Amino acid sequence: MTTNSFFYILFWVCVAGLCLGSFFNVVIIRSLSGENIVFPPSKCPKCGKKLKPWHNIPVLSYIFLRGKCAFCGEKISIQYPLVEIITMLLFAACYIRFGFDLKTLFAMILCSTLIIMSGTDIKERVVDCNIAIGLGILGLIYNCFAGGDIIGSVLGLVCAVVIVEGIALICKFIFGVRGFGEADAYVAGALGACFGLKGILITLGYTLVASMLFIIPMFLYKQYMKGNKTTCILFILFILTALVFRTLTQDYVTMGLLIILGILLAIRTLKEIKNKEDLTYLPLIPAMAAGALYYMLF
Ligand SMILES: [Zn+2]
Repeated sequence: MTTNSFFYILFWVCVAGLCLGSFFNVVIIRSLSGENIVFPPSKCPKCGKKLKPWHNIPVLSYIFLRGKCAFCGEKISIQYPLVEIITMLLFAACYIRFGFDLKTLFAMILCSTLIIMSGTDIKERVVDCNIAIGLGILGLIYNCFAGGDIIGSVLGLVCAVVIVEGIALICKFIFGVRGFGEADAYVAGALGACFGLKGILITLGYTLVASMLFIIPMFLYKQYMKGNKTTCILFILFILTALVFRTLTQDYVTMGLLIILGILLAIRTLKEIKNKEDLTYLPLIPAMAAGALYYMLF
């Protein structure tokens, strides 16, 4: 493929991403409110006036309307341009990564379902399990017919459901509340069917990292605001000791100190969870989506 045709296709992939992103916004909002996705045409949620076609151009309309309704001046949610840009970037990344191939189409469908499910999960902690089931079936079919590994795909599905549902039930046993929502096991299973056993294990690892990147700063910030400064100081000491151990000296004293600090931090965190501190600052599905996309694209 020549460089010119590569950029020509990339351009139209981006346009398709923006337009579909615009459609995903409608799907996210109307599936939460229970409205029909196709009818009626879009209107302002405040003044109820029907939007003109030029108010519906992805990203551009938001910019020239300066983020406000053209009729009543009500602020337009940043969700609209954000979902459009994210869809465009992910579609472009799929095309750059896999080229003009069936795999690209599969990757784009995967991105689309993850965007919609993450959107409804972030907004209202609601996820349509049917989308996850559809993605799981598609993953099985793709791996069965497109030269993939169907046994790995089935194993991936089963293991993902067992791991995520298992952790959720263990949390219920220890803390009295399920660790995650019921939809999370469906989404994990679907990703397992798409990526196979090894792929889903790596993805769940990335999911853990993505969650921690949110949970640790948010938890420390909340503890600090509560006047619980000891937890924050312990955490800083833990990181410093880990750095010293990693770069300067690998002796047993530093290692012992690291373990003691780790245990103290764990005890304080468990105490806060018993005090009804909810650690799910980032819902699991956006974290899983981040993990899945990182695994697939890099
Ligand atoms: Zn309006």
